[in-house]
Amino acid sequence: MGPKIDPEKCIGCGNCEGVCPVVFHLDEQLGKAIVLDPEGCEFAGCCEAAAENCPQGAITLGEGE
Ligand code: SF4
Repeated sequence: MGPKIDPEKCIGCGNCEGVCPVVFHLDEQLGKAIVLDPEGCEFAGCCEAAAENCPQGAITLGEGE
């Protein structure tokens, strides 16, 4: 299971894309971040940092479930 972004919490700040652009992308039309590659966290190694840098706590990681 990959990372998820809660669209109710996301404010479109772009931090997640800045930290981890392989996995997260800020959709400028939506004004929200989306997950580009749900499998990407396995090799990207930056998903935890993206979650930690989300000011809204909108990113949950699927690992360990
Ligand atoms: S860091 Fe959090 S609030 Fe900012 S765009 Fe990404 S998911 Fe949304």
